[in-house]
Amino acid sequence: SATHTGKQQAVSVKLEGIVKKFGKVTAVEKVDLELPAGKLITLLGPSGCGKTTILRMVAGLERPTEGRILFGGEDVTRLPAYLRDITMMFQSYALFPHMNVYQNIAYGLEVTRRPKQEIRERVAEVVQQVGLTGLEERPVAALSGGQQQRVALARSLVMQPRVLLFDEPLSNLDAKLRKRVREEIRDLQQELGITSLYVTHDQEEAMAISDLVVLMNKGVIEQQGDPRTLYTRPVSRFAADFIGRANFFEGHYSAGHIQVAGYQQPYQQEGISGKVTVMVRPEALKVHLSGDGLDGTIHHVSFLGSSTEFSVDTPVGRLEGVVAGDAPELPGRGERVKVQFAPQGTFLLPA
Ligand code: ATP
Repeated sequence: SATHTGKQQAVSVKLEGIVKKFGKVTAVEKVDLELPAGKLITLLGPSGCGKTTILRMVAGLERPTEGRILFGGEDVTRLPAYLRDITMMFQSYALFPHMNVYQNIAYGLEVTRRPKQEIRERVAEVVQQVGLTGLEERPVAALSGGQQQRVALARSLVMQPRVLLFDEPLSNLDAKLRKRVREEIRDLQQELGITSLYVTHDQEEAMAISDLVVLMNKGVIEQQGDPRTLYTRPVSRFAADFIGRANFFEGHYSAGHIQVAGYQQPYQQEGISGKVTVMVRPEALKVHLSGDGLDGTIHHVSFLGSSTEFSVDTPVGRLEGVVAGDAPELPGRGERVKVQFAPQGTFLLPA
């Protein structure tokens, strides 16, 4: 195990042909996945898609029905949880309310009977890393939600895990705090370079913190990639719909043109032709009072402060758009417009 000064070497985590069945229920179908050393990977997907089950198998809390799990080169498939050098953070922080910050963080080291001096040094180091300096004597019950979250993180980090696991750690924080804490987690993870697996059903959270997002659907991986790739090049309607907002409608694609209800727009995409489903992100929907475009009528306009949302009725249905700021140039409700699709937010899927 690690000395108190030396950090653990970051390890990669590999899942090979992982299947998990609970009786007749197949929770995980056949998953191959590699978490590169030192990166933060998010498992994202709707309730019941199998993400928690994968996390629990990596933790050693569930045994795969088939397949292998490797940390570095080491096969840990049959290694019990307590020998895997992992720590897991949950939404309920499971802090000891009657203990102070120091005692909560030191607890794991005391249980494993590390020398007193080493415990003091390691706790001091992580207290500083997570920004809790000066609060060591404070009972955790007298901390804010964000501070408690940091104690939980410190308690994980002090164990110098090879792999850090997060099971929806932010679900009981309010929206503002969630955002702040997720940035803190990300900063710290990057600074320390600990291989991390993070489970969430919140796509924005996944995009914000991940090196790699693994989108799951019914026990299989639907798509994996960096957040930008998932957003701009979804492999399916499910992926497009789950990662961000999107309009979908039927069209036809050939010879470098999308054809939609009599309107034809130049567009380039490899490997697809004929009947297609057109995906257009709200920010890619452009409306003009004149010129070329799909015929539309503005249905509504809502000013939201930092952005203005609108919808427009077209022959292919009502489409949702968004522009930054107040957008006084945006046509008003009832106005007849021409609609175009900016290529950066447009993507074609097989119909
Ligand atoms: P959530 O976001 O709701 O936690 P999830 O994506 O994490 O969902 P899992 O908890 O991994 O999904 O569950 C995947 C499937 O396996 C579900 O159909 C679930 O009901 C089933 N399942 C999970 N654990 C067990 C178990 N111990 N016994 C039986 N079925 C289980």
